[in-house]
Amino acid sequence: MTSALSHVACSRCGARYDADEIVQLCACGAPLLARYDLEKAARTLTRDALGGREPALWRYGELLPLRDHAGRVSLEERMTPVVPLRRLGPELGFDALFVKDEGLLPTGSFKARGAAIGVSRAKELGVRAFAMPTNGNAGVAWAAYAARAGIEARIVMPKDAPAIHRWECETVGARLSLVDGFIGDAGRIVADEVAKEGIYDASTLKEPYRIEGKKTMGFELVEQFGWSVPDVILYPTGGGVGLIGIDKALRELQEIGLIAERMPRFVAVQAEGCAPIVEAWKEHRTVSTPWEKTHTVAFGIAVPKAIGDFLVLDALYRTDGMAVAVSDAELLEMQRSIASREGLFVCAEGAATLVAAGRLRESGWIERGERVLAINTGSALKAAAAPTGDR
Ligand SMILES: *Cc1c(COP(=O)(O)O)cnc(C)c1O
Repeated sequence: MTSALSHVACSRCGARYDADEIVQLCACGAPLLARYDLEKAARTLTRDALGGREPALWRYGELLPLRDHAGRVSLEERMTPVVPLRRLGPELGFDALFVKDEGLLPTGSFKARGAAIGVSRAKELGVRAFAMPTNGNAGVAWAAYAARAGIEARIVMPKDAPAIHRWECETVGARLSLVDGFIGDAGRIVADEVAKEGIYDASTLKEPYRIEGKKTMGFELVEQFGWSVPDVILYPTGGGVGLIGIDKALRELQEIGLIAERMPRFVAVQAEGCAPIVEAWKEHRTVSTPWEKTHTVAFGIAVPKAIGDFLVLDALYRTDGMAVAVSDAELLEMQRSIASREGLFVCAEGAATLVAAGRLRESGWIERGERVLAINTGSALKAAAAPTGDR
């Protein structure tokens, strides 16, 4: 199970870079993405081979960037379940509605995937300290994996982010700064610090490997749907890295011939209080306009301007997908509905995808018999109050 990583390439201009050097953004300012020798990967990454591997994201080693798995930084994360919604599904008019429950991962959200691969690869490349802006979950996950790796984590978070994130970050030993503003303001502070001190910039899509961890959601769901893809995937979209990652994963599996050339229709779900991708999609634009004054309880998707917005929008157009904004009142009500019908305590962002699913079923955009997968990106417990103070 050797990594088939061959180089990293710009997602916009195509420029190539050496994968075994530390890289951040392309000189043109766009994100770099990991590229693999897919022929080489196809020789050992087979359905049979996978059958004998550990049930964890590390099983896709050929299509992950880590060269030496002996040095992996892991909290023994496991594949997350795909849960059929047998009560809520039919109530919303579906025969086959599923949730992939990422709330079971270490640190309580799917950000653990990006951190497991991102921190492992950073360590392999010799990084000793990194900085990143976050609305909470990413910072917590990277801080936890950094603790395990013995790497210094500097996390910058809006002061209005849930107190539980601050508590967790500090407890696992990160250097935490709070900013009176939004995630974009945190990003500017990180950029200054990186420029001044020459430390690694672990901001969303400013290094190429976090997305490689997130894409493992795509590999897993393909196996869980019996080597096929669902008809529709709904994703709570902030930076959109998870959606871009799933899209990348499915295309890599198609190219190595493990699945047929059929894509799900992607639905990017946002909160009404921060919906730049939805606005751009409605006007059929290729990039989004920065959102002013975000306001939503779904903190994980409150991203006013995503650096990879053009990749998210491309995935929506290419798959005949769609973008939907839902209100806080709707998603909070759905959080109760799914909990009381199915026993699943999903985060606000995850609940938003189910509101969107219901609405698209009602409008007929999704048909009753289609296989529909909503991604629950984290546990509702992540919104609990920290014991040391109020929220
Ligand atoms: C970060 C986050 C998101 C958004 O993830 P992206 O892939 O960056 O769009 C959604 N939900 C939760 C709970 C998150 O923490």
